[in-house]
Amino acid sequence: MQQRGESLGNVHTDRLKDLLTAGSYLENICTTVGDIRKNNRKCGGCKWFEYCTGGCRALAYLYSGESKGLCGEDLTKCRFFENGWYEKTRDALSEWKNLSPVGIV
Ligand code: SF4
Repeated sequence: MQQRGESLGNVHTDRLKDLLTAGSYLENICTTVGDIRKNNRKCGGCKWFEYCTGGCRALAYLYSGESKGLCGEDLTKCRFFENGWYEKTRDALSEWKNLSPVGIV
């Protein structure tokens, strides 16, 4: 975020109330899964979205480029699903009970 010139503020110099009620912090925490689905075409059309929900926001922010802002896709999760790592993990742990199976693969 610093590299992008974005700051959540500084509790040593700014009033905590101001930091929590306005600016980047509020925008960050109020971004929803629905916002990601609506604003990111790749995630919105992804068959794994129900399980992934766009992935980790920090990794998405880091890897998917500035232009996508808070709604970028988490490329590490794309690689996980697209390269069959869900199935590989499930098969490697076959003796474990999968309590939340991905139903579409
Ligand atoms: S796998 Fe990638 S494209 Fe699909 S929902 Fe996750 S982050 Fe988005």
